[in-house]
Amino acid sequence: MGIKQSVVAQRMKPRRQATRRTKSDEALEKLQAHPRVEIVDDERSIGNSVIVTLRRGWRFNDPGEHVFGEDTPEECLAAVETRVKPCACSECKAAKRKVVCR
Ligand SMILES: [Zn+2]
Repeated sequence: MGIKQSVVAQRMKPRRQATRRTKSDEALEKLQAHPRVEIVDDERSIGNSVIVTLRRGWRFNDPGEHVFGEDTPEECLAAVETRVKPCACSECKAAKRKVVCR
């Protein structure tokens, strides 16, 4: 019995390490799957921020502001959930019409 348990423990160990993720990774995944988000560009490796492009119909601070950046994915996720508003700029309206025509 004791041997069986240790075999299971050995099998579990590497799998657990492979799926270990940081909060930052989780926030990045949530961002990428977010219904208001079109594209996420993680440019931290080149000294920039995390750039989020919103889907048509959504904006950040001002009408027509569809792209924004924050220092971390967590901040981006918080911004998408609290600061993003519906956008009705000409670009979004045009995009909406296109979708309706299809
Ligand atoms: Zn817009």
